[in-house]
Amino acid sequence: MSTGLEDAWQNLRLTADEEQVVIVDDADDNTDELISLCLLGKLHTQCSFNPKATKSVFCNIWKPSKELVIRDLDSNLFAFQFFAASDRDYVLNEGPWAFDGSLLLLKQMTGLEVPVEVEFSTACFWVKAYDVPDKKQTISFARILASHIGEFVSYDDATVFGIDKVLCFRVDIDISNPSRRGIYIKVDDRQMWIRFKYVKLPDFCCGCGKLGHVLAGCNSVQIVEDDPNLQYGSWLRPLLSTDNSTNMIIDATTVINPGPEAFKRDEHALNIWDDRWLPRPTSFHPITPKTDAWADLKVSDLIDHNMACRHESLIR
Ligand SMILES: [Zn+2]
Repeated sequence: MSTGLEDAWQNLRLTADEEQVVIVDDADDNTDELISLCLLGKLHTQCSFNPKATKSVFCNIWKPSKELVIRDLDSNLFAFQFFAASDRDYVLNEGPWAFDGSLLLLKQMTGLEVPVEVEFSTACFWVKAYDVPDKKQTISFARILASHIGEFVSYDDATVFGIDKVLCFRVDIDISNPSRRGIYIKVDDRQMWIRFKYVKLPDFCCGCGKLGHVLAGCNSVQIVEDDPNLQYGSWLRPLLSTDNSTNMIIDATTVINPGPEAFKRDEHALNIWDDRWLPRPTSFHPITPKTDAWADLKVSDLIDHNMACRHESLIR
């Protein structure tokens, strides 16, 4: 349906002066760097949410080294203006991010787009591929696997040529598709199934496998929560993220970067909440109040044992 403004525009007869097109040279503008530090973002959700709380949470999670200005452009459209490239890169490279279980979709700005017309169709995830044969723990094989999930972005060196049968790579994924659970490959006439898991996977539908809604809000699958025929489940998340309470603790980003020394100690014995393991001046453990259910969490729970490294994106 056209608006009154559009109707009025179509009926206008431009004067000769108005028909002239002015060629604008942008060489004199100094806005490129400023715009390159800006991101557009929206939450991938069908539910209503509190924009003020959303902005506050992302400020707290990201902890930018310089200022961060977040503007509301529409009911579910934000402009994130950073003032340091490192802050912008951290947000782009360490995602995905979520608010209240809903994925935050991000796009770099060009400065010429109409923000409300920007399409948010993909999101970057670290994908872990399990049961990869030793001889296929290569960068080229990571690229092949990634190409069947989305668009390959990068890989984790720590997992290449390892012997733990896990490859980790970053993929730009079309969020309108169900999360791919794995792939059959055939090597030397041996067929095998390689499983995929998604790091920091936010809420998704266990019925259809798509992001953006949960089972209760699914329009395509009529199935109940504990039905054995559910085709998707929390097992799509790597071990560390299999329960929401652990996610809650980590997403709170109360764990600061302790430096490599902290992990040389016996992390299996160090209690996250009670032991003195963080190099903080006053508190030597996270500030977030612990819950009884997770009172026994150890520092080792913050380490990705499959990849033999700490979770860089979780510990800042
Ligand atoms: Zn669904």
